[in-house]
Amino acid sequence: MRILIANDDGIYSPGLRTLATVARDFGEVRIVAPDVEQSSMGHAITHSRPLTLRHAPVADFDAWRVNGTPADCAALGINAWRGIDVLLSGINLGLNLGNSAWHSGTLAAARQATLLGCRGIALSTPAEEEPDFATLRPWVARVLGLLLPAGELQLVNVNFPAAPTGLAWTRLSIRHYDGKVIPGEDPMGRKHYWLTVQPLEAVEEGTDRWAVRQGLVSLTPLQLDLTDHDALAAARARHPP
Ligand code: MN
Repeated sequence: MRILIANDDGIYSPGLRTLATVARDFGEVRIVAPDVEQSSMGHAITHSRPLTLRHAPVADFDAWRVNGTPADCAALGINAWRGIDVLLSGINLGLNLGNSAWHSGTLAAARQATLLGCRGIALSTPAEEEPDFATLRPWVARVLGLLLPAGELQLVNVNFPAAPTGLAWTRLSIRHYDGKVIPGEDPMGRKHYWLTVQPLEAVEEGTDRWAVRQGLVSLTPLQLDLTDHDALAAARARHPP
């Protein structure tokens, strides 16, 4: 199995190294990741300047850094290395739950892989405290052991709690959006703004946020089709063109 590793935290992230180290037990691994952090870049691609693939020293891995976004890395890696079966993105330092699927560069790299005909799996863990990757490693191995043979799953979003106790299949918790604008002032008295997230209290059972709060590794299968099929059927019935 040919496994491409990407992320949005940058090629020298300890999360990426942990993922690549575990993935090595499942197949041939190559790393293509951004040269600097690209968190919250979503599914942006670079079209107005050329991109480069440069060798990067990440242990003894076949690792390449790209001066672009996570989705760029997926595209370049898949283009440069034929026959890739799956792209693993992460392990992100920071959970990617619910609506953060729209902003996440980690998930975007995995999604870009599925657009290009590969499977994609995004993996994230909390970063409020320094993640304990030694604790997570057997859980990452367990998740890869479950997901890699499941070839029908094209795109999966995985979130690890800091100290997992089990696994759960989940849906995205999309009812509430946790994005927030916080105004502030710079030292010269000029206004500025922080885009940040606020903690969500209410969690619905069966969602990714719920699972992680229970100490469970959340596994959410995703699809590329954004069509609202109910709204489409209703629109066709109510407003015949
Ligand atoms: Mn990140």
